[in-house]
Amino acid sequence: MERKEIIRKLAEAIRRESEGLGRIRIMHLCGTHEDTVTRYNLRSLLPENVKLVSGPGCPVCITPDGDLQRVFHLLERKKVTLATFGDMARVPFEGKSLFYYKAKGYDVRMVYSVFDALEMAKKSEKPVVFFAIGFETTMPSTALAIMEGVEDFYVFSAHRFFVPAMEHLLSLGDVKIDGFINPGHVSTIVGVKAYEHIDFPQVIAGFEPEDVMLAILMLLRMIKNGERGVRNEYTRAVKYEGNVKAQEVMNAVFDREDWEWRGLGVVPKSGAKIRREFEDFDALKVFEDVFEDFVPKEDVKKKACRCGELLRGLIEPKDCPLFMKACTPKNPVGPCMVSVEGMCNIWARFGVRG
Ligand code: SF4
Repeated sequence: MERKEIIRKLAEAIRRESEGLGRIRIMHLCGTHEDTVTRYNLRSLLPENVKLVSGPGCPVCITPDGDLQRVFHLLERKKVTLATFGDMARVPFEGKSLFYYKAKGYDVRMVYSVFDALEMAKKSEKPVVFFAIGFETTMPSTALAIMEGVEDFYVFSAHRFFVPAMEHLLSLGDVKIDGFINPGHVSTIVGVKAYEHIDFPQVIAGFEPEDVMLAILMLLRMIKNGERGVRNEYTRAVKYEGNVKAQEVMNAVFDREDWEWRGLGVVPKSGAKIRREFEDFDALKVFEDVFEDFVPKEDVKKKACRCGELLRGLIEPKDCPLFMKACTPKNPVGPCMVSVEGMCNIWARFGVRG
């Protein structure tokens, strides 16, 4: 059967299943899912009473300004090479970004992987600090790089564990949802078992349009039957146990602390703090003198940005008065317009305006 026909049949099944259910809000939790949904215009295939909203699935978007300010603070005070992913380097704070620092002559480098930064440290005469962001998907690589024990290689960990954020979302009074589409990439690492304790309808989904539509159908059936717990649509990639080796490496290097997320506030046990055994590679520890006088500020230029509400699924990009006016992919105001996984950026790229 052709893809178009499969999707048409799934849309029809969704319509039938949704009858009599009242208003249903489903939240997906991954920037790549938003890309699929928008690229294939899947929202247009859903019945009126089924709404698909986007959650905090973009690592760049949820990294709070406090982390970015700390990295700026370090750069201004220590002669280091700062390595990070390209999207993170474009996030503005008070009109500055890591690209701004690069243009001013600071040694800021874009990398595709933590191992690029590790190789840099092997050859460099000055410390290399890797500004590490991302969820369980990228955390094992950072852990492996730390375990190599390379001199003058340090990690500024802004990694965050994703599963606690799902539980936290459900505890927030203003987030009204009926089911989660769990993130595919994170799930390949943490496995189905990581979600079993969450007493809420969830389906782990892959990234093809058929995957997302099937996940919506599965969720509607769960909701209709009053089922809770987790089902796995992405069986071709996600196993019950997940990637055990990656989990071991990640848990050996990172502990869990209560850390802030943009839009979500402090999420218990979500922050990937480098354990004491590896503190010789922890930039926050090694350069702790630098942070003694650090006081985070609020960015007044970002006051009107509504990324926080967007990351809780409360609004869509069109509800932000700056969308495609003062805030565009070329001149982003907030991280949701910077990152290719951010909802504002995805809507902008695919021409969705309302
Ligand atoms: S359009 Fe720009 S300013 Fe508005 S929420 Fe998105 S990133 Fe923030």
